[in-house]
Amino acid sequence: MNSKQYVQSVYEQVEKRNSGEVEFLDAVKEVFNSLVPVFEKNRKFMEAGLLERIVEPERVIYFRVPWVDDNGKVQVNRGFRVQFNSALGPYKGGLRFHPSVNQSIIKFLGFEQTFKNSLTGLPMGGGKGGSDFDPKGKSDNEVMRFCQSFMAELQKHISADLDVPAGDIGVGAREIGYLFGYYNKIKNVREQGVLTGKGLSYGGSLGRTQATGYGLIYFAQEMLKHANESFKGKTVVVSGSGNVAIYAMEKAMELGAKVIACSDSNGYIVDENGIQLDLVKELKEVKRARIKEYVDAVPSAKYVEGCKDIWNEKCDIALPCATQGEINVEAANTLINNGVIAVCEGANMPCSLDAIEVFIKNNILFSPGKASNAGGVACSALEMSQNSMRYSWTVEEVNEKLQQIMVDIFKNAKKAAIEYGAENENLVVGANIAGFLKVAEAMMAHGIV
Ligand code: GLU
Repeated sequence: MNSKQYVQSVYEQVEKRNSGEVEFLDAVKEVFNSLVPVFEKNRKFMEAGLLERIVEPERVIYFRVPWVDDNGKVQVNRGFRVQFNSALGPYKGGLRFHPSVNQSIIKFLGFEQTFKNSLTGLPMGGGKGGSDFDPKGKSDNEVMRFCQSFMAELQKHISADLDVPAGDIGVGAREIGYLFGYYNKIKNVREQGVLTGKGLSYGGSLGRTQATGYGLIYFAQEMLKHANESFKGKTVVVSGSGNVAIYAMEKAMELGAKVIACSDSNGYIVDENGIQLDLVKELKEVKRARIKEYVDAVPSAKYVEGCKDIWNEKCDIALPCATQGEINVEAANTLINNGVIAVCEGANMPCSLDAIEVFIKNNILFSPGKASNAGGVACSALEMSQNSMRYSWTVEEVNEKLQQIMVDIFKNAKKAAIEYGAENENLVVGANIAGFLKVAEAMMAHGIV
C-alpha cells in the first residue's frame, strides 16, 4: 500500500466511525491531506498504525450539568472534556461555553489543539472541553452556579499533571475564577497549576490576556518579513471583538497598521479613520455591550447588521479572530479581488477548506490558526511553568518568550513546507507536518499504548 492509499483508507475508517461529525471530519481531512508525503518518507509510522491511533481521542468524557437559575428553575446542560493526546505532556486546551458546542466541535478543537500545542515546542498534550451553556444574558450568580456544577464533575478528570483546562469562547477571567475556586474547595487542595488564564492575584501570568492576539501579530509580522512586507501603513480588517481580536488590533496598530473594521456576532463596524481601541475595550471588556454602540460615540463610523459581510471591506491584511467557518470561498475571492496580501487566522479554523485552497493557489500569505493563534496556549504553558516554580516573570520576560516562540513556529512550519515540497511553500501543510512529527516521534518512543 502506498502512503496515499494508506491515508485514504484510514480516512474512510474515520468517516465511518464518526459519521455526522462534520467539524471533526473536516479538521481530520485537512491534516490528513498534508501528511501523505510524511508517510512516504517514514514508512515506520505507517507500520506502527500511527494515523489510526492519533485520530482516536484517548478519552471522551460527556456529562450532565444541572444548575438552578435565578427563577428557581432547574436547567440542564451538557458538559464535555476530550482528552485527545498526551504523548507530549498533560492534556492542555480551553473550555468553550457556547450554544453551538457538541461532541463534534470539541473533538475537532481537541484534535487541532494536539498539533498546535506540539508546534509551540512546549511539553503539552492536546485536549478541549466545554458546554452548550450560553453565558450571554445570564447573571453572575447563574454563571457561578453553572461553573460550580460543571467543575463538580470535571474535577474527577483533571489535575496540574494530568489535564489543564483554560478559557476559550465564553470562558474568560470570571468563569476561570469560579472554576478554580470550586476545584480547590472540593478537592481540599491549593493546586495553582490546574487551570490557566487565571487572574493575576491568584497565580495567573502577566501577558496571558494579550497573548493570543499579540502572538498572532508576532507570527504575521514574521510571515510578512519573509515576503519583504510589514504592517506599516497597511489597512487591516479584524473579525471579532473578544480577547483575541482586541489585542491583535492593539499590536497591529502599534506596528503602524490602520485597523478599520471589527465585529461581534450581531454585526460589524467600519471606521475609516481607524478604530478607536479604547472605546472597543470599554464596550466589550467593561460594559459587555454590543459593538453597535460604537457608532453612538463615533457618528462618522458605520454599523452593518450581520457579521458575515465584514470581508467585503477592502483591506491589505485580514485577521479572522471570531470563530470557525467565517470565511467561505466567496469571501475569499472577494478579499483577493480587493487586493488582500495576507490572511492570518486568529480563531480556530475560521476559513473553510476550499477558501484556504483559493488563498494558496493565489499565492496569498496565509497562516493557519494552529500556528498563528498558538500564542494563547504557549503563554498558558509559561503560566504552568511559573506556577510550578512558585514564581512570576515580568511582563517583558513573558512577552519576549512569546515572541520567540511565535517566530520559531513560523520558521519550523516554513522549513517543513519546503522540505516536504508543499505547493507555494504553504504554511498549512508546513504546520500540519511540523506539529505532527513531534507527536508521532513521541508516540513511537512510547510503544503501542
Ligand atoms: N483556547 C485557547 C486555544 O484555542 C487557549 C487554550 C489554553 O490556553 O489551554 O488555544
